[in-house]
Formats: sequence, structure tokens, C-alpha cells
Amino acid sequence: SSLSQHACDHLAALLKGFGLAASTPLSNWIDGRLVAGEGEEITLINPATGEALVSYRDAGAGLIERATQAAVRGQREWVTLTASERGRRMNAALRGLEGHEEALAQLESVVAGKPIRDCRAEVGKVREMFEYYAGWCDKQHGEVIPVPTSHLNYVHHVPYGVVGQITPWNAPMFTCAWQLAPAIAAGNAAVLKPSELTPFTSVVIAKLLEEGGKGVSQGLPKGLINIVNGLGKTTGAALTDHPTISKLVFVGSPQSGRMIAEAGARRLVPSVLELGGKSANIVFADAKLDEAVAGAQAAIFAAAGQSCVAGSRLLIERSVFEQVTTRLARAAEQIAVGLPSDEATRMGPLQNRRQFEQVTRMIEAAEAAGARVLTGGKRPEGLPDEAHGYFIAPTVLVDVTPEMEIAQQEVFGPVLVAMAFDDEAQAIQLANETRFGLAGAVWSQDVARAHRVAGQLRAGTVWINSYKAISVMSPFGGFGDSGFGRSSGLDGLREYTVPQSVWVETAPEASVAFGYGSGV
Ligand code: NAD
Repeated sequence: SSLSQHACDHLAALLKGFGLAASTPLSNWIDGRLVAGEGEEITLINPATGEALVSYRDAGAGLIERATQAAVRGQREWVTLTASERGRRMNAALRGLEGHEEALAQLESVVAGKPIRDCRAEVGKVREMFEYYAGWCDKQHGEVIPVPTSHLNYVHHVPYGVVGQITPWNAPMFTCAWQLAPAIAAGNAAVLKPSELTPFTSVVIAKLLEEGGKGVSQGLPKGLINIVNGLGKTTGAALTDHPTISKLVFVGSPQSGRMIAEAGARRLVPSVLELGGKSANIVFADAKLDEAVAGAQAAIFAAAGQSCVAGSRLLIERSVFEQVTTRLARAAEQIAVGLPSDEATRMGPLQNRRQFEQVTRMIEAAEAAGARVLTGGKRPEGLPDEAHGYFIAPTVLVDVTPEMEIAQQEVFGPVLVAMAFDDEAQAIQLANETRFGLAGAVWSQDVARAHRVAGQLRAGTVWINSYKAISVMSPFGGFGDSGFGRSSGLDGLREYTVPQSVWVETAPEASVAFGYGSGV
């Protein structure tokens, strides 16, 4: 169709503009150079039309080998610089993004099927994360421990060396910068594998950052940041199994997360897992209901629900259940669902066929189990004829019971389940009745209750009268099937270092203890 052809041409022009165009696109950034993949061909499908967009080659184990070798050299060079020089260079690297923000947003929008306005906001996050962690470079100091012996004991935080990072398709630029920035601020080099469904923007970000710094300083050493694209089972597995990688950071589904942690365990390499969620959004009858409805809507329908923190379970106090769900359904019907490239679009298609089929199947299974579709549940109306892609209308389900699959499993689509509760204790119990524990929210004007409930939620992030506020300054992560370890803030930085304890004898004559010694 002409819509498909237009997207293909637009993408080709964007790739060319960034220097990635070739007979097959250059889909890797290794040792300061663009490199083509060597493995089997991977074809990307346009999420808006369901038609082929572009093909590139899987990187494979050979390029992982090259990337890790480059990373070893890049890291060696990086840690010879002073801490403040590293910070200066991270800031200088950001100049590389200047003037390219719009093209980067367009590139993401076409491939990921994300509304263009969301992609522009995501580019802004890349800058924020590098600026924030650049500031940490010269502020990472250790501690002196008052040990009960004649020693000076100090602890400092040393980098792992080369870290391996794996990211998902729902927020490719965000998750790329989210993990690259703290990794290098802590003194590591990185090899990052984006999702095979959204390969290009991470490559472009790495390239622009490296090129940007060179103009104003010596820039980031080549090999410090390497982006290698391919499937999880080929390139991803080659990365997790590579002996040079000494820490794994994974953002994605619990199923894959388990495989990454297992691969790490085989080599005794630690991992951070940022996985999915089934977050509860709790609305008490005393909440400002206008705000709660608007919050609930943004919580689930932004990014078409393809967000790890999506507020996918709305728990509503029974006395206002009818009112809240009715208002929410009306609000859902007002959301502008459309083509990702359209400036007015607030919600685009799902990113891929697998996701579309999963969401469709889960809605059908929920109905078969007795749930009722209040709104949505099917293809939205008013789309252009050629938009044959993976669209699902904003969906609200009621008559849902806690044991149903739709109330327990992550849908990762624009599907909200609403359930009623009778009192605070039941609200907390329902909220915590899931294997996930990523986020949650409480809506109430009773300050004491809001904090009381927040403190009892088994979730890494809790909002009170708000949803989705996040900052690179504040730690983020999960409980249970939502994973472990933290990203963002100082906690996120510390995931990329190991404390090293150094003992210095301060007595006039050293007396080395045989056994535990005295005074320990
Ligand atoms: P996914 O698990 O299918 O893929 C994620 C990444 O893992 C991809 O790069 C994939 O190629 C790779 N991978 C898969 N199997 C692998 C293996 N055996 N070895 C190495 N790498 C492998 O996840 P997805 O569908 O891309 O993303 C959606 C999921 O991500 C959702 O569950 C969502 O909630 C979660 N997510 C979590 C966060 C968070 O911060 N907690 C953020 C965004 C997305």
C-alpha cells in the first residue's frame, strides 16, 4: 500500500541520514564503527500496516566476540582518565545529539510504531540520563571504616569491567540510555543488545554520542559503548555466555529474564532484572475522582499499555465502582488512536504480531471466563483503510475475579481490568495477590491512609494521587516476578560497581595475625 511504501521510503531516508544505509543496513556499532551483521536475515514489520519495513542481518557470536574485545580496550582507556574528565566527556558527548533529535524520534516512531510525540519525549530522556550520570562521575567516593585494629580500612567502588546489557522493544531509547549512562559513569565499558524488533536507535545514539564528544574533547573512547543487534537465542545468548562479561543487566519479560539469570548463574555472574508488572491502581471513594479517572487512563493506555509500569489492575472502592468505570470507559473512547506518524495520535498500534495475538487471545479468554467488555476489545474505528497493523482499541473489562488469567498475567496491551473492594484491608490484599511487584498507586485524600496503604504494597514504586512519575534520580525496580536489583539513582549506579575493601597497617611494626588475630 502507499502508506507502507511511504514508511519504507521514510525509514530508508532516515537510515541514510545517520549513515546506516547499505545493501543491508549497518546495524551494529562496534569499536567506534558501523558494522553489518553476519547472521541470518531479520525482517522488521511495520506495526501500523503489518507489511515488511526493512531487513538486516543478525550479528551472531562473531560480532559479540569483536565487541567484547573492543570493550576491554575501551574500558582500559576510560579508567586511565580522571573521574572529572570522564564526567566532562559524557556531557560533551551529548552535543552529538544536537540537531538530530527529530530524526531520532522519527526513526523510533516508524520502527516501534510509537506515536511521534512519545518518541520525542523519549529522546529527551536520553539527554536527562546522560546528564545525570555524568554528574556522578566525580562524586563517587568511598568510606573509611573504624575497624578495631591498627589498620586504616577504606572501601571504594570499583567497576566490573565489561558489562552486558539486553533491552526490550517498548522503550528502546529510554532503556538504552538508562543502562549505558550509569555503566560508563561507574567506569565500565558496555556491550548492549537491543530488541531485535527495534535495533536502530541504540546504534544511532551510540554513534552520535561518540562522534559528538570528539569535537569538543577527546570524546568517549572507541569500544566504550558497543551495540550489537540480533535475536535473543543467537546474539543475546552469545552475549550472556561470553566469558568477558562480568555483569548482566536485563530489561524485558520474566520468561527471558529467567534465562538471562540462569546463564549468569552458570558462570557465577550477577544480574539485574527489570521485568514486567501487573500493577494495581487503588481508588478509594474519598479520592478526587476526576484526577483518579485521568490517572487511571494514562496509567494503562499510554504507549497502548506496552509499559512495564502500566496500571493494568484498577481496584475501586465498591461505592464508586459504577461511577468510576463508566467515566473511564467514556474517557477511553475519546483517546485519539491512530497512525504513529500523526501528530494528533495519542495511542498507536501494538508493536508486533506476537504481542497483538497475545492481547487478543487474553481478551477472548477473559470473556470466556466470565469477564465483560465495557468498552474496546476490538479494532478501533476510524482508522485509515491501509492501517492493517496491530491496533486494539482501549479496553476496559469488568466482572473480573482475582484468579482469572487477565487479573494475574501481564497483558502488555491497552487492557484494563477493574475490580471492586470493600475496605482498606481487602484493597491491599487484592493489590498484593500477584507474583509481580513493580509499581502501584493509591488515590485518596486521607493522608494517613494513603501512606499506610503505600507502605504495605509489595511494589518497587508507589505513587500517591499520581501515576507514572519517574525520574532517573530515584531508584526503580521490582519484587518477585518483576525482577531484582535497581536502576536509576545512586542505587542504579552501584549495580555497576563492586565494593573493594582495602586494609593498610598503621602500627609502627606490622604484626600479621595467625588466625583471626586480636581485636577483630
Ligand atoms: P523479551 O523478554 O521478549 O525480550 C527482551 C530482550 O531479551 C530482547 O532484546 C530479546 O532479544 C532478549 N532475549 C530473549 N531471550 C534471550 C536469551 N535467551 N538470551 C539473551 N537475550 C534474550 O521482552 P520484550 O517483549 O522485548 O519486552 C517486553 C517486556 O519487557 C514486558 O514484560 C515488560 O514489562 C518488560 N519491561 C520491563 C521494564 C522494567 O524496567 N521493569 C521496562 C520495559 C519493559
